[in-house]
Amino acid sequence: MQIPLVDLQAQYRSISSEVAAAMQEVLDESGFILGRQVKAFEDSFANFSGAKHCIGVANGTDALHLILRAAVIGPGDEVIVPAFTFVATALGVMLAGATPVMVDVRREDALIDPDQIEKAITPRTKAIMAVHLYGRCADMDAIYKVAKAHGLKVYEDAAQAHGATFQGRPAGSIGDAAGFSFYPGKNLGAYGDGGAITTNDSNLYDRLVLLRNWGSRKKYHHEEMGLNSRLDTLQAAILSVKLAKLAGWNSRRRDHASYYSSALDQIGSWARPCDMPGRDPVYHLYVVRVPNRDRVLAELNQRGVGAGIHYPFPLHKLALFKGVIPSDLSFPEAEGWAQECLSLPIYSELSEEQRAAVIDGFKAVIRTA
Ligand SMILES: *Cc1c(COP(=O)(O)O)cnc(C)c1O
Repeated sequence: MQIPLVDLQAQYRSISSEVAAAMQEVLDESGFILGRQVKAFEDSFANFSGAKHCIGVANGTDALHLILRAAVIGPGDEVIVPAFTFVATALGVMLAGATPVMVDVRREDALIDPDQIEKAITPRTKAIMAVHLYGRCADMDAIYKVAKAHGLKVYEDAAQAHGATFQGRPAGSIGDAAGFSFYPGKNLGAYGDGGAITTNDSNLYDRLVLLRNWGSRKKYHHEEMGLNSRLDTLQAAILSVKLAKLAGWNSRRRDHASYYSSALDQIGSWARPCDMPGRDPVYHLYVVRVPNRDRVLAELNQRGVGAGIHYPFPLHKLALFKGVIPSDLSFPEAEGWAQECLSLPIYSELSEEQRAAVIDGFKAVIRTA
């Protein structure tokens, strides 16, 4: 049995006629750029995320970049990011011209460690970019405590966390603004690139409307250096079809995750991100830590289990940062996660036979360790 890490086709098959109808409507109306379906999606996604405003953009990286541009955070400013995340968190900061300053993550959940933030703060620090990695919210109360004491903004990289909650508050409504990605493999994925920003800050929203559209509110009246970064109307129409099903899909993911967790507990004691009370993750990824990870991964793949690695390197080890950050930085927890993390296949359409086969494969591979 082949079990891919993600299966976009299985989900597409379940919604193909609704998607076709939504796309046909856009084609018939031909409002391809900022057509009415974009605003309709933005309104529903704001509602889903518990935020006042949503603005569609071209991708998640631009969402993070544009939040900072809108907040006038740029050259000479520093933004704190976790040392263990997808690279785009730091790239969004760099694209805005600001400097990403890394902070180690917690051993227990692979998320930015609020206790480590304080010592990374300098007079140039303007904001903290909290990442809800794997679909699990960062410890936002503890992060805000530090941020408030130093007058910093808190932004959410919610690219993996559509629908996750923290103390009952949905990702996208907790920070001063949040960036989402609709990359096809995300919990809410488009059929191409897409992204969005949610915020309760009307001034920020107002600036974002301008910045995503060549710095103009009114055609040919360009007020400042903006981008061409809009969510396509076709993608917005597809996303609206999928958003209506997202809560159900996320609950399937939670069900798979609890199956994995109890099955793994019977095999041994595997470190994996833990959940604090009041935090409800959406399992964009299901990650365990295993020693000899590369061998376990290769053997699982050989057996048809499409396990993967998210991510093999902490930020400070990437060639991208050579000459940008001190070369002797060390973040032991981020390094540990990068060395041992192993993602098991998880997506809403995963069948009971498939998830059982993942566990059987894991058991067999671990025994030969
Ligand atoms: C996917 C992702 C992004 C970037 O989103 P794109 O739409 O691919 O640009 C940013 N941060 C995290 C944590 C992500 O997983």
